[in-house]
Amino acid sequence: MVSNEVPLQLILLQSEVDILGDKTKIAISAPIQVGGSLFTSEQLSQIGTIVGADAKIEMTTFKQLYAEVPIERRDAIKEGLELQGLEVYPAGFATKSLIACNFCKGAEEASLSAAKTLNKAIAGIETPMPLKVGYAGCALGTSEPLLKDIAVVKMRDTFDIYVGGEPKGIKTAIAKQLLTGLTEERLVPVVTAIIDFYKTHAKGKEKFSKFVNRVTLEQLQQVANKH
Ligand code: SF4
Repeated sequence: MVSNEVPLQLILLQSEVDILGDKTKIAISAPIQVGGSLFTSEQLSQIGTIVGADAKIEMTTFKQLYAEVPIERRDAIKEGLELQGLEVYPAGFATKSLIACNFCKGAEEASLSAAKTLNKAIAGIETPMPLKVGYAGCALGTSEPLLKDIAVVKMRDTFDIYVGGEPKGIKTAIAKQLLTGLTEERLVPVVTAIIDFYKTHAKGKEKFSKFVNRVTLEQLQQVANKH
């Protein structure tokens, strides 16, 4: 039940961002593009201007900038950053924006449009634990996709999906192949089905890699194959 003493605005924000007193964290990303995670100098200077001189800005390991901003200015800041061509997502317990490669083989060959569509579908979904989805435009995988929770790797004209990569701690793991030969149309339905299944069946704050080991690759394959 909601306490009368807690402002409604705070309750709504609590589900999607980390609350830090009267501050909140937002995640800022450059758009998915050829060349990788590129910011123009104008965008960088505007980030400083829009979030304010006192804001703490952190470079994360997953290609997002985290900025601490006053809660009451969050929406205006988000709008201002988006006007600069940047993307703003919730920080913390959510799917990160797609961690994509640099598309060095070109937009068509590395399927930039598929990556953009996938990013739109998955970035910012509230999840039991932070979730990273990687994308590589070819099997060279220079974006290290197999170290991510979910990975999409383009192989000639189709895509392979891997799950359960774990780069942290001393029990690291390389993601295992879940499906191979997916057409582009199936990418979003399959990846969102895997995320939905994780959201529904995770035990508390269960990490995705542990979840994959518990529910088994076979069960996840059955879920994915329905889409
Ligand atoms: S994964 Fe392939 S297409 Fe993407 S940047 Fe690396 S080599 Fe280029």
